[in-house]
Amino acid sequence: MSIIEELSALKKEIPSGVKLVLVSKFQSEETIMEAYNAGHRIFAENYPQEFEKKVKSLPEDIEWHFIGHLQSSKIKMVVPYASLIHSVDSEKLLYEIDDYCQKNGLKTKVLLEIHVAREETKHGFTMDEAEELLEKLRKEPLKCVTLCGIMGMATLTDDNIEIQREFTLLYSFYSRMKQRHLQWPEFKELSMGMSEDYKYAVRLGSTILRIGTKVFGKREKL
Ligand SMILES: *Cc1c(COP(=O)(O)O)cnc(C)c1O
Repeated sequence: MSIIEELSALKKEIPSGVKLVLVSKFQSEETIMEAYNAGHRIFAENYPQEFEKKVKSLPEDIEWHFIGHLQSSKIKMVVPYASLIHSVDSEKLLYEIDDYCQKNGLKTKVLLEIHVAREETKHGFTMDEAEELLEKLRKEPLKCVTLCGIMGMATLTDDNIEIQREFTLLYSFYSRMKQRHLQWPEFKELSMGMSEDYKYAVRLGSTILRIGTKVFGKREKL
């Protein structure tokens, strides 16, 4: 199927309250424009340099999300342009983003990345760490960063039971924190679900899907 066909099939499958973010890492600008011309406006990138370059050369009405690991030195390449940063994976990074925003008169929305997968390589907070951090922020709120929820990734596995177990963990943590932190009305997003596991994610309470391969086909390095 073409990009346009994949996209329209996928949109029919996804409930209206769930946001579809197309992950365009390693995809050419022409490829992104195919989805854009089919009416899609929300894209996400993983690498700061590639992100900044695409933001500057593609249409201005695209809503860009950032979903990759972010080093402090790259904050300036990402924060000014990102509608939502899904991948805040340390307390240090969170405070650095808040500082950067204060100095530059910006506001930014972020999600905390929670590590539930089996792979050690994935970044993020444990649920305990995130819970503690949220308590701290309740007492001493950030100045310019809005916490909009959490993001998580399931283990890369064929074991569907394991994937559902991890999504269930993420959902229950998310809903408990949402209940606990009613002082943050914007804490309402649960970013989970990729090409291989989005069907489970939708059933288990995801509000944002991050899908690349299913729509764009296999990625080739630029
Ligand atoms: C690459 C990536 C995706 C998209 O993965 P696909 O399997 O291509 O859908 C989603 N989330 C993150 C964090 C990614 O790095």
